[in-house]
Amino acid sequence: MPAADRVYNFSSGPAVLPVPVLEQVQRDLVALPGVGMSVMEISHRSSTFEAILGQAEADIRRLAGVPDGYRILFLQGGASLQFSMVPMNLLTDGATADYINTGSWAEKAVKEARRVGNVHVTGLPEGAPFDRIPTDAECEYTPGAAYVHMTSNNTIEGSQWHRLPVVGDAPLVSDASSDIFSGPIDISRYGLIYAGAQKNLGPSGVVLAIIREDLLARSNKSLHTMLNYAVQAENSSMYNTPPAFGVYVLGLVMQWLLELGGLPAIAAVNERKAGKLYTELDRTGYWRPTAQADSRSLMNVTFRLSSEDLEKAFVKESTAAGFDGLKGHRSVGGMRASIYNAFPESGVDALIDFMRDFERRNG
Ligand code: PMP
Repeated sequence: MPAADRVYNFSSGPAVLPVPVLEQVQRDLVALPGVGMSVMEISHRSSTFEAILGQAEADIRRLAGVPDGYRILFLQGGASLQFSMVPMNLLTDGATADYINTGSWAEKAVKEARRVGNVHVTGLPEGAPFDRIPTDAECEYTPGAAYVHMTSNNTIEGSQWHRLPVVGDAPLVSDASSDIFSGPIDISRYGLIYAGAQKNLGPSGVVLAIIREDLLARSNKSLHTMLNYAVQAENSSMYNTPPAFGVYVLGLVMQWLLELGGLPAIAAVNERKAGKLYTELDRTGYWRPTAQADSRSLMNVTFRLSSEDLEKAFVKESTAAGFDGLKGHRSVGGMRASIYNAFPESGVDALIDFMRDFERRNG
């Protein structure tokens, strides 16, 4: 299918990939230049694949300015397995881990951590809607906490941290699955950042983890081998067969970002895209954006209409008009426009035109 036939894909993940990346994958799919085999068919121990993985890592380091003293890991099991691996490796006996609860994915992280050890949940008041990021005053941390876990972007609820919580000395662990590399990031402020690849990084099946080296000492030798960060680091993400195709595509996405001008450049695009959409959502009062203004996500723009019937009509008509994936998550309803890095600005403009027309007809 030529690129011109692509619809506007607002899926929350797996999500839209950059067309130049897809085109390169297509060109090299049957035979990598000079190799005569596809990336899916070669040994992960081959020098070709080692170079692909090494280049992806080098490009991540360059793109995000990853300081020395941090290890880059390509893992499997989705971000969901990190909900388990984080406490298994970092929540040492008798210690407490603090979790800032800002949404459904944060809750899932809490659920797994509780299976491992002591967990203290903080952030929004109990029972408060997940429509904003808590203030520092609302967060209470355990002295000497093993780590503090946050979810940088709440994919389902459409809220995002636009500052970092002030957590003191505890290592900050961030689930950045839905906004990683959407803008500049100061890695040195974190102990660990992890992200499922399928939104801003590449295809599903790979998880990127960036971990401060000293934290590897916490991984207990009694842990299952594959679940041990230290083992994964010692083996440069190749203790077993890595998700080779995913790492390869992730590497191409990193190159695409670097060629675009890196994280400051993509941040400007993301701010412009989300800015246009929120401006439209605020324009007449017809639309009901769900996240509070200072907590709005630049990646997942969530909104409602005055009735569920209207929402159903919007989703149906937008799909017919070539906009895919605007239905909100089943747990919250409404609409969600996921506009990750690779989502084209022309799609935001087209959606706004469609919304104006819908409002004219149904207002
Ligand atoms: N965390 C966040 C913030 C997410 O958005 C998602 C997936 N949508 C996950 C975790 C779970 O990721 P995975 O499906 O890779 O396990």
